[in-house]
Amino acid sequence: MQHYDLLVIGSGPSGQRAAVQAAKLGRRAAVVERKRVVGGNAVHTGTIPSKTLRETVLNLSGWRERGFYGKAYRVKKDITVDDLKERLEMTLKHEIEVMQHQLMRNGVEVIRGQAHFVDPHTVRVTESKDAEPVDYTADYIVVAVGTRPHRPSNIPFDGRKIMDSDQILKMQKLPRTMAVIGGGVIGIEYATIFSALDIAVTVVEAREQLLDFVDAEIIEEFQHHMRDRGMVMRLGESVSDVREDKDGKVIVQLASGRRVVTDLALFAAGRQGNTDMLQLDKVDLEADKRGRLEVNEHFQTAAPHIYAVGDVIGFPALASTSMEQGRRAARHALTEETVKRLENFPIGIYSVPEISMAGRTEQELKKAGIPFESGVARFRETARGQILGLEQGMLKMLFSLEDRTLLGVHVVGEGATELVHIGHAVMELKGTLEYFIESVFNYPTLAEAYKVAALDAWNRLSR
Ligand SMILES: Cc1cc2nc3c(=O)[nH]c(=O)nc-3n(C[C@H](O)[C@H](O)[C@H](O)COP(=O)(O)OP(=O)(O)OC[C@H]3O[C@@H](n4cnc5c(N)ncnc54)[C@H](O)[C@@H]3O)c2cc1C
Repeated sequence: MQHYDLLVIGSGPSGQRAAVQAAKLGRRAAVVERKRVVGGNAVHTGTIPSKTLRETVLNLSGWRERGFYGKAYRVKKDITVDDLKERLEMTLKHEIEVMQHQLMRNGVEVIRGQAHFVDPHTVRVTESKDAEPVDYTADYIVVAVGTRPHRPSNIPFDGRKIMDSDQILKMQKLPRTMAVIGGGVIGIEYATIFSALDIAVTVVEAREQLLDFVDAEIIEEFQHHMRDRGMVMRLGESVSDVREDKDGKVIVQLASGRRVVTDLALFAAGRQGNTDMLQLDKVDLEADKRGRLEVNEHFQTAAPHIYAVGDVIGFPALASTSMEQGRRAARHALTEETVKRLENFPIGIYSVPEISMAGRTEQELKKAGIPFESGVARFRETARGQILGLEQGMLKMLFSLEDRTLLGVHVVGEGATELVHIGHAVMELKGTLEYFIESVFNYPTLAEAYKVAALDAWNRLSR
């Protein structure tokens, strides 16, 4: 029987990083993956496909140029599903090659098949129905099995007109109208991406606010842009039924009695952990009703040699944080060093326009009774914003009134997910308002918005 120092179940971002980290420490590591190719959701159905789709849509639709040439401007007139898929396939092929090479280069073995526990140190892997299962043992096991879309039984998914977020990538034809059920990150990303193709999109969300963890002023600005381009939002509305009528239209019936009649419905409300096939009872572990595992700050489950990382442990369920969790779990298992708790990280939402944030929101600071002052810059106030024809976009910083340290940075608009890292770094290094006032920023850049926002905060503080 093969024995490993660290055996990982799942080859998504968290599993890969855990295995590569173990290999870099000179330990014997393997990853078990049930799909034909490595990469997990991030590569096959999540991060990379949706972000490639976004970039293709923005390029072909001429979205970034519309500030100058008007709303009717297009780079390509009739955009088809094939146009969108072409770039997607090229990007995915390249990304998979990079990942396979990385695992190979580091000497991580990839074991194909579905894994489940046999006992606390043994994992059984079945490659196919006809293949004989093979057992592997390990000192440490990392559960990195990820999630899949939540599919409630009352939604008649057909992969054609009523789809989940995995199926949407296999769409055969672009619809003229679309309903997105779920105003979370995945729902909002797809809703705004398809809206950039001039598809009439309606978002249905049970809560009264979209993305309620984002700073309220940023969401206000974001929702303004959504409405401005004709998107419809049905907030505080839950879906009671979804069906296709005899004319081929999809009817989304809301509990309030309202209906959304559309060509296609995307259901993107919640995800389910892939723990149901793991036979967790063999290791005395139990998942919650959404299939998630509980871990401590070192990512150990109740069985200390079994770690869980990535989406299967819940919030924040991002590829970015998943990678870091995997790396830290492996280091905790295989080295003596104390690993710092993973607390401060940026969050990126690749909607159109992008939203990104790090640190605390205005509503969090108010709730915690922490005195602060804010500073805001609009992208159109920067020379770069003018050159790019940006009508949208703002950057907001929150500074402590006690010591002027930066407490939060929030950005909506072009490049938000890149820009946020400046604020995040300053915050991590305990930088203050003075850093932004005293520093020189390249000109013309959108990063200059940091200086404008800092001066705005300084003005407010000096009043
Ligand atoms: C539409 C969408 C867009 C997203 N966009 C972003 C984004 O822009 N930025 C970002 O940071 N994050 C994004 N995410 C989230 C990101 O994809 C996830 O956080 C990330 O993929 C989680 O990684 P993971 O390692 O936990 O698991 P996954 O990537 O889900 O991988 C788990 C792997 O485990 C395998 N597996 C499961 N069970 C078994 C088993 N029993 N035996 C063997 N193999 C098994 C699966 O086949 C899969 O390959 C997005 C997600 C979605 C759905």
